[in-house]
Amino acid sequence: MSKQFNLISLGCPRNLADSELIISRLVNKGFVFSNNDSSRIVFVNTCGFIDQAKKESIEAILDLLELKKSKKIDKLIVFGCLVQRYARELIGALKGVDAFMGVLSLDEKRVSTRCFLTPSHYGYVKICEGCNNNCSYCAIPKIKGRLKSRKKESIVSQVRALNRTGLKELILIGQDTTSYGVDFKKDYNLASLLREIYRAGKNISWIRLLYLHPEYINNSLIEEIANNPKVCKYIDLPIQHINDRILRKMNRPNNRLGIEKLIGKIRRRIKNVAIRTSLIVGFPGESKSEFKELLAFVRDMKFEKLGVFIYSREENTLAYAIKPQVEARIKKERFAKIMQLQQGISAELNKEFVSKNVKVLIDEIGSSYFLARTQYDAPDIDGNVFIKTNKKLQTGDFVSCKIVDSYEYDLLGEY
Ligand code: SF4
Repeated sequence: MSKQFNLISLGCPRNLADSELIISRLVNKGFVFSNNDSSRIVFVNTCGFIDQAKKESIEAILDLLELKKSKKIDKLIVFGCLVQRYARELIGALKGVDAFMGVLSLDEKRVSTRCFLTPSHYGYVKICEGCNNNCSYCAIPKIKGRLKSRKKESIVSQVRALNRTGLKELILIGQDTTSYGVDFKKDYNLASLLREIYRAGKNISWIRLLYLHPEYINNSLIEEIANNPKVCKYIDLPIQHINDRILRKMNRPNNRLGIEKLIGKIRRRIKNVAIRTSLIVGFPGESKSEFKELLAFVRDMKFEKLGVFIYSREENTLAYAIKPQVEARIKKERFAKIMQLQQGISAELNKEFVSKNVKVLIDEIGSSYFLARTQYDAPDIDGNVFIKTNKKLQTGDFVSCKIVDSYEYDLLGEY
């Protein structure tokens, strides 16, 4: 049987990090990774977080089962969060899948030291797995268990290995990266880890943090982000809502006052910081006035980046039983209202970049533009900078380009 395999990684960057691990293990065993249709063995890393993601995973598996029926592939292996959550149902329903595996346990020893699923100049490093929070709408703690932090030695040795491959941007991920180290006996936290990574990654210019929990961002972390020249001044801070009653029903530990104080402190202390947040609309019982409060908050706070999710009723979560559930039509209306408001805010904020020189990282070489990002843009999540130039640039290059125009989410630059 051919040793060539492909891996389709669905879901979030945390899944992508797990997929990288599976690929590097198989490559170390002599298999050949090739992300095209000629592979006879296919792995699918699934997402089991919310309905939409579950549907996407099921559709991908069914498409591959069709390919297997038509003998275009020999083996199909399905793993990840969807399997962890629904193993019995999937095994019963999806005959033809050769093997099912749940989520990967955090393995200190065997880590991926190369980027397979991202361009070689940026990569994800998972620093912890699982979550100690118990947000009432979220199934992740049931899928991934309680938070487990990776030993700093394992992370630093992975960073050193990635540094040798010429990686320029390192993205640290977990379910709740701010809680990194809480399970260690000795006092060691995210700020301490950032200092170690700063020293270990000589070639690495950008260290990006994703999934910071507002309740656990403390002064030492804010200081480290403000003073560490390699840490992107980009704060990914999912707050989910702003109304105190809804935050309580979501079982979120923070309230409106706490969130406003934190955002004020971050904007005062970290120069030119960009804050990304995520919100949930249509949470059970969310009244018209509570939604209006959220809308007004978004208008006043002017987040540089914002993502909105429509509440997904997930079985085995606390919120599943909350009544009344908000109608789907109203959920969609609320989603559209916030997105429309944010589009205007983002366009306004992007205008402030025009005629400024900005450091960008080249991600792709297009036919008439180079695609790049500023430190304020996470890959596959935020906007891009389209660069016009006659000069020869490579992916992974950093250049300082002049912004000549701006759009809702993207910028146009000249170099
Ligand atoms: S902090 Fe995030 S991963 Fe943890 S329970 Fe809440 S939403 Fe889920």
